[in-house]
Amino acid sequence: MVEMLTDASPSFVVDVAIIGAGIAGSSLAKALASRGRRVLLIDRRSFPRHKVCGEFLSPESARMLSELGVEPAIRALGPADIRAAVIQAYGGASLRVPLPAAAWGISRYALDEALHREALLAGVELATGTSVTTMRRDADGFLLDMTQGGNARTVRARVVVGAWGVNGRIPGWTGERPVKRLAASPFMGVKAHYVGIQAADEVELYFFEGGYLGLSPAGDGVVNAAALLDRSAIREAPADVHGWFGIARARCPALDRRLAGAVPLAGTQAAVAPVRLYAKPVPWDGIPLIGDACATIPPLCGDGMAMALRAAQLCAASTERYLQGELSLSTWEEEYVSSIFREFSGPLRWGNLLQRASGRPLLARLAMTAARSMPALGRQLFLATRLAPTSQS
Ligand SMILES: Cc1cc2nc3c(=O)[nH]c(=O)nc-3n(C[C@H](O)[C@H](O)[C@H](O)COP(=O)(O)OP(=O)(O)OC[C@H]3O[C@@H](n4cnc5c(N)ncnc54)[C@H](O)[C@@H]3O)c2cc1C
Repeated sequence: MVEMLTDASPSFVVDVAIIGAGIAGSSLAKALASRGRRVLLIDRRSFPRHKVCGEFLSPESARMLSELGVEPAIRALGPADIRAAVIQAYGGASLRVPLPAAAWGISRYALDEALHREALLAGVELATGTSVTTMRRDADGFLLDMTQGGNARTVRARVVVGAWGVNGRIPGWTGERPVKRLAASPFMGVKAHYVGIQAADEVELYFFEGGYLGLSPAGDGVVNAAALLDRSAIREAPADVHGWFGIARARCPALDRRLAGAVPLAGTQAAVAPVRLYAKPVPWDGIPLIGDACATIPPLCGDGMAMALRAAQLCAASTERYLQGELSLSTWEEEYVSSIFREFSGPLRWGNLLQRASGRPLLARLAMTAARSMPALGRQLFLATRLAPTSQS
């Protein structure tokens, strides 16, 4: 689906332009359009597209999607119900943790497109396959130069929000983004869909030297496999997703047994590098940032989409108040930034700790033994990585 702008004028005006139409950008666009704002949602990619993600929609994500009013549209896609997480540690020990509430497994290929449809229904203008070539600020807001299929357009927006994911940026935009956040990272992410193996109602996490791999049912008997790999711990240098999964299987016998007979679905493979972990949130870079552009929680927590949805909720509320003139630019920034740090710091701290422990076999084994002998402790640790339940604000 390549969406063209419905407004044919070479230059037009919107309240909010959102750059990046993943789960963060689409949900913010829908939320603001539902409040009556004229919103332009821009992505350089065409959709649908496969994206590196475990495709595990945590109970928190499912709740926030319901709050956004898109639950019927997502249920119509036939998501798999997920009731537990199974962790397979180094050395073969395993742990099954029932989830506190229902989670869903659904492919990002279908989910992101469904969110686009819901955003369009709410009145959002969607421009996919569109690159923002320059962005500059003036007294009335922002001017964005864009190209779509060889056609150039300029958009004036009162507000711009960055939802461009972990590696996106706008050429020439000189915000205050700390250089540290763009530091090199050895991590990469890979994914592929498989058929031919039993899809369980569990998300399974397999740890091995150099990374971990999650299996999650994605609906229709499809199983999604997504891995985070530390390239510095992988001496072999495969050139494709199949090769990287081959290394994971060779290092983790339980995973190898689980994937016996699995048939990869052509065209579903995707890879992303670098995946930057451990950085502090950057909620503001001259403009508000949401989703992975703002904060990245280690994938083993399975809550990146929840953080994207929550940042979009927080941003929608404060952006609306700014547009109504209730907040000055500086109080808007202050309010949004402090809400992100208040809600995200705890889960990020615990998520980062688990991520670091996962790379140390002895520590990981100790944590596993402790969690098995004291289930309440395991549950507390799990909850520490989650966003605290909040009502939509
Ligand atoms: C291996 C792995 C497994 C994961 N597993 C899970 C999981 O099971 N559950 C979970 O909740 N989270 C998981 N995550 C995290 C989750 O995928 C992300 O947190 C989530 O996708 C963030 O959404 P987003 O909208 O911020 O970014 P994205 O979904 O990445 O969207 C950003 C969009 O911005 C666009 N873009 C970038 N630059 C530009 C530009 N200059 N102009 C226009 N468009 C631009 C991109 O094309 C993209 O479509 C996982 C991550 C990894 C790496």
